[in-house]
Amino acid sequence: MPEASGRPAYDDTNVFARILRGEIPCKRVYEDAFALAFHDIAPQAPVHVLVIPKGPYLSLSDFGRHASEAEIAGFWRAVATVTAQLGLEDAGYRALTNIGQDGGQEVPHFHVHLFAGRRLGRMVPASG
Ligand code: AMP
Repeated sequence: MPEASGRPAYDDTNVFARILRGEIPCKRVYEDAFALAFHDIAPQAPVHVLVIPKGPYLSLSDFGRHASEAEIAGFWRAVATVTAQLGLEDAGYRALTNIGQDGGQEVPHFHVHLFAGRRLGRMVPASG
């Protein structure tokens, strides 16, 4: 249900909101005031970590439009801290965020996937 502003409402029952509230566990990699990083429950690469902002943002677009400067800076600093902490930068990695239906977003809380640990192949599958 959109808010009066036209901004879609954030559903605070989503699984990442529940992880942030400590209602369900996660395999935590990193946490600070702005972000939480944890291992994906169904990894699609040898390293598959999710980084999420602590605030209630639906997607990259919602985050970019509505988050404060401090939240935006803090979140992307946290992503860089995680890639350094996990030692991903020399061999390389992929950062990806799915947005909405065509993007294949399943969890409506903005998150960045970090994939690493093997050659990751094509950026987008040919079809599907
Ligand atoms: P997306 O399709 O971009 O919304 O990705 C959602 C991701 O969240 C998927 O890769 C799921 O495997 C992952 N996921 C769902 N539930 C959990 C959970 N409880 N802990 C960790 N990862 C999860």
